[in-house]
Amino acid sequence: MLLTALGTAAGIGRGVATTSFLVDETTLIDCGSGVGSLPVEQLEKIERVLLTHSHLDHCGFIPFLADCHAYRDGPGITVYSQPETLAALRAHLFSGVLWPDYTRLPDPAKPWVRLEEITVGETVQLENGTATALPAAHSVPGIGWLITGPKNAFAFTGDTGPCPAFWNAVSRVATLSDVVSEISYRNKDSANAERFGHLSAEKLAPLLDGLPDGMRLWISHLEPGRETEMMAEIRATLPSRLKVDAILSGQEIVL
Ligand SMILES: [Zn+2]
Ligand SMILES: [Zn+2]
Repeated sequence: MLLTALGTAAGIGRGVATTSFLVDETTLIDCGSGVGSLPVEQLEKIERVLLTHSHLDHCGFIPFLADCHAYRDGPGITVYSQPETLAALRAHLFSGVLWPDYTRLPDPAKPWVRLEEITVGETVQLENGTATALPAAHSVPGIGWLITGPKNAFAFTGDTGPCPAFWNAVSRVATLSDVVSEISYRNKDSANAERFGHLSAEKLAPLLDGLPDGMRLWISHLEPGRETEMMAEIRATLPSRLKVDAILSGQEIVL
């Protein structure tokens, strides 16, 4: 199983894009602007989106991905997320105003975009593994994802503030090899991190006791243009027993 980072940043700019990870060829975790880097042939192979939450930097490219599947013979795409997140997609993204309502087109019984409810602890079957929804604590309802492959497992926090339940859950996964955690704010902005349901390095550090020595901890959702400055502070703040690095577009992880 191969996980490829397509977009990992909190915003846009040359060389950076918002959150989207490709799992093998058929599954996306989130559908931010990073997905736009895939060639059309690969976009057409995507069958499902595992969505963390309703913010545009994570779901904003779902309508364009749906366009790649409209008027084709295939089954379209299925978006998995919590009921609150799917309700937000229905009310705002597929309201028929911002974009055609692909959740009811071409036929409400067989639409190009299907919305499937999932709650924390539930699992989606993938071709070569599983995806399980993990708890998160964001400013809107959110989840993380645990992707379990034949050899290793990968966990992604999604957007979140401090969420001990996420870290307790991943520390129990024996095959866990890689964790991607968001850090959106510098330590001096920890009050804003808390206000908007995000993390700074000093807010994340106390949550990592359950991770074994040498675990790879990737950092995502950095502020475009501030990556170097933020990573210097993050490395100085997080435990040195972990392998801490920024995850950038193009990074591959074998599971
Ligand atoms: Zn968010
Ligand atoms: Zn975000």
